[in-house]
Amino acid sequence: MNGSGKYTRKDVIGHLIALPAFAAAIAMAAAPAQAKSSQAAMKYQKSPKNGQKCSGCKFFVAGASKTANGTCKVVDGSISPNGWCMAYSPR
Ligand code: SF4
Repeated sequence: MNGSGKYTRKDVIGHLIALPAFAAAIAMAAAPAQAKSSQAAMKYQKSPKNGQKCSGCKFFVAGASKTANGTCKVVDGSISPNGWCMAYSPR
């Protein structure tokens, strides 16, 4: 605003530029966490494939013990440390 109480052209342009960025930030904060893929969609299997298995994958979250099922950051459900899916990524 300028001294006479009116918005200057610069004020208006500044707000027009800031608004979409603010709206995008709100939308991102409100969006639910990215849903995981289903085991079927990722062709998950409970056995290793070509020496690759979940326990050696960077997405695997280990269970209570070394042999217990854990979870996966990208695939839904209970995941065997000896499992495998097409998203396998070595640690
Ligand atoms: S991405 Fe696939 S291979 Fe890796 S831990 Fe998850 S289910 Fe296992």
